[in-house]
Amino acid sequence: MTTNSKFKYYMYLMDLNGINVKEGLLYYTSSHKVVKVRYSYAVKREVEGVIEKAREAMKGEVRVVQKASKCFNCGFYTYCRPKIKGGIAFA
Ligand code: SF4
Repeated sequence: MTTNSKFKYYMYLMDLNGINVKEGLLYYTSSHKVVKVRYSYAVKREVEGVIEKAREAMKGEVRVVQKASKCFNCGFYTYCRPKIKGGIAFA
C-alpha cells in the first residue's frame, strides 16, 4: 500500500466518523514535498474496493502473486511466509 493510499484510507475513516473531508495535505519528509490529495466519491469507492479485496483475501478467495523482490523488505515477511519460485512470490 502506498503512502497516498494510506492517506486516502485515513480520509475514508474520518468520513466514516462523520467528519466532512474534501482534501488533505500529505507531507513527504524526505523530499520536503507537499501533495494535495482530494477526497471524492470516486476515492471513497476506491478505498471500499481495496477493503473488499482485503476481506476476500482473508477468506482465502484471493492469492497474492507478485515479484518476490517486493517481499524481501516487507515487515510482514516473517508472518506471511510467501512461497517464492523463480522470483515470483505466492502468498
Ligand atoms: S511478504 Fe507477504 S505481505 Fe509482504 S509483500 Fe510479500 S506477499 Fe505482501
